[in-house]
Amino acid sequence: MIRLGGIAIDTKTLIILDAFGNLLGALLIYAYNKRHFSRTVKYHLYSQILFGLTFSLFIVGMFLFNNMYLAIANCSLIFGGGFEVFAIMQLTNNNNEKIKKVLMFVLALVSLVQASFAVIIDVSNLRIALVTTTLSMLWLIIVYLLMKPKNSTLLQKMVGIFFLVTAGSLILRSLQALDLSKKFDLLTPGFAQILTFAGMFMIMIVSGFGIPLLSKERADEQLLISATYDGLTNIYNRKHFFEEAEKELDYANRKKCPFSLLMIDIDHFKNINDTYGHQKGDLVLSEFAKTISEVLRKYDLFGRVGGEEFQIFLQDISKEEAFMVAEKLRLLIENVNTDEIHYTISIGICSIEPNLGKESNFDEILRQCDLALYEAKNSGRNRTIQKSMQ
Ligand code: GH3
Ligand code: MG
Ligand code: MG
Repeated sequence: MIRLGGIAIDTKTLIILDAFGNLLGALLIYAYNKRHFSRTVKYHLYSQILFGLTFSLFIVGMFLFNNMYLAIANCSLIFGGGFEVFAIMQLTNNNNEKIKKVLMFVLALVSLVQASFAVIIDVSNLRIALVTTTLSMLWLIIVYLLMKPKNSTLLQKMVGIFFLVTAGSLILRSLQALDLSKKFDLLTPGFAQILTFAGMFMIMIVSGFGIPLLSKERADEQLLISATYDGLTNIYNRKHFFEEAEKELDYANRKKCPFSLLMIDIDHFKNINDTYGHQKGDLVLSEFAKTISEVLRKYDLFGRVGGEEFQIFLQDISKEEAFMVAEKLRLLIENVNTDEIHYTISIGICSIEPNLGKESNFDEILRQCDLALYEAKNSGRNRTIQKSMQ
């Protein structure tokens, strides 16, 4: 028991809370995972079940003082930690099957050694040191996986910090246990012991909320990406391009900026599909988008608006400059080849010069672009035709 001011914290209460908390958490996660299967959540479920089992066995061990219970509880704790690492590996896209197998093998080895410490040669100091060191190493792997990525989110960092603090308390306990002059047991009181069980309680809360939240955060991110970007070319999809283009148009109307809309269509694209196959056609489309993206300014809008049709919104640019940009893109494509496939593009531009009295209308701009592209196609393809509006 440790006293902080008027509050008394004792290990037994923490163990009981850990047992119930993990098992109740596991029950809810099981129910969630039934409908919304996610491998991250599945691994987290295994880990919560194993932690629930660990602390339940600790409770039994407290009354029966039988080392067998402690040996099984520690196996469960070690593998529970392992599954928590798997959950974070899955979440952070580090899902390497080979590493998982190696980790499982190491954990099985540690489990065997600690079980022999518990059952055959009763050395509780070494058993506790081994188990707490192993668990702290697993927590440090989680810290590394969560905090290492440059684009790690605030939630990732916060969960990582909690795991780091708990890893610290486990290392402290392990160092205490290594002092073989004093017998060290599950319930041997001390600051490091309270810290460890309080740490495990904290992990129960942090991973119980944190992992499902992190998993939701990722799912939301992926949903946003698939609602915004085209899956094949990774540029804006039709819906998002038009939404953004409307905003740019509003801005241009307000600020009276000159701008241009480019409508690009790949020439005889059907022939590419027919000659080289649909897969090569897909490759041409994605390489085309990549080539164009590389030369555009970062605030230019570029979207795939149809099968082999693309649009570019150039903000704050004169009609002469816009024509030059279009010609640059056309010549660039004429001179690149994707897997020995040569192809050309036709471009229709509608350029708008600011007019104090009048607001441009997007439908009219699209109509002018369409007309320009139609002319480019009809006059032989591989060319740029420009229309101007005020
Ligand atoms: P034009 O010069 O007149 O534009 O001729 P075209 O052959 O490019 O135009 P058409 O509209 O006749 O054919 C477009 C083709 O693009 C037909 C369609 O199968 C193909 N296509 C559309 N989307 C995709 C796609 O995602 N992948 C592949 N590989 N082909 C696509
Ligand atoms: Mg077309
Ligand atoms: Mg075409």
